[in-house]
Amino acid sequence: AKATGRNRVVTFAPGMAEAVLDRVELAEDLTAAMAAGDQLSLHYQPVVTLPDGRVHGHEALLRWRHPTRGPVPPLKFVPIAEQTGAIGALGAWVLHRAVADAAAGLADGSGPSRVAVNVSAVQLADEGFVDVVAAALAASGLPAHLLVLEVTESVLADDVDAVCARLQAVRDLGVRIAIDDFGTGYSSLSYLRRLPVDIVKIDRSFVTDLARGGSATTLVASILELARSLSLDVVAEGVETPVQQVALAELGCSFAQGYLFGRPAPLDTAARALQLD
Ligand code: C2E
Ligand code: MG
Ligand code: MG
Ligand code: MG
Repeated sequence: AKATGRNRVVTFAPGMAEAVLDRVELAEDLTAAMAAGDQLSLHYQPVVTLPDGRVHGHEALLRWRHPTRGPVPPLKFVPIAEQTGAIGALGAWVLHRAVADAAAGLADGSGPSRVAVNVSAVQLADEGFVDVVAAALAASGLPAHLLVLEVTESVLADDVDAVCARLQAVRDLGVRIAIDDFGTGYSSLSYLRRLPVDIVKIDRSFVTDLARGGSATTLVASILELARSLSLDVVAEGVETPVQQVALAELGCSFAQGYLFGRPAPLDTAARALQLD
């Protein structure tokens, strides 16, 4: 006991220093990737209507193929980009790319298509965000009502009034707002009434538990009821089985997304899959 407090060294848990270095290296490599241009791309996953499973639109999902590590998942590099501030430029690139693809007919080239783009709370905290969205729409010519911006409940951690005002400004352009991963955050169902949103995306975890009996069915039913009373559309995320599809349709859920209907894929693959339908 006498020795404690003297000659103490800060010790890292095994692997901790490596993890920090790893993040620093990834942050540097991401900057290089943004300059290089050919490592970053968008994949698109279909959003379908229920019960029929017809394609309604697509969600853009960012992909990074690192020159030596291979694919790095967005859940790993997006938080790094948020910390370094790179998310501003990266998010603007995603927005421009996605609306340009959608304006060009996205999957089948028959005309402008609906597209959903994920937006980080850090992007939304920036004063210039509304201008970035307006500029992307203007450059592409995509009608604003075909664009959905997906935000998570984490945006509520910031200045709620400022965030709501900015979301409303984007909505005033005609863009629709979705709350992503709904049910996983700290906000209550009633919080939804305060947010200027149009769409609720039910998190995959609840969809996974559907039809197993238990609280997931009750929870999904109450989200649907609340959404109906607020005239919001509902998209169920992560639908992987026909049983889940049927359960959601029976509960009255109008839209779904998941591996059952299509995995995220590059544009040429998504286009081929649709043409085969
Ligand atoms: P998200 O927006 O909730 O996207 C859904 C995630 O679930 C995607 O993972 C998608 O590939 C995956 N997914 C879709 N259907 C299924 C399914 O049936 N089963 C399973 N197990 N997974 C499914 P991904 O592409 O790895 O993206 C993860 C998260 O990274 C996204 O979650 C989103 O929060 C973030 N992200 C992706 N692209 C962007 C972006 O351009 N900007 C920002 N800020 N975040 C992004
Ligand atoms: Mg999303
Ligand atoms: Mg989601
Ligand atoms: Mg999610």
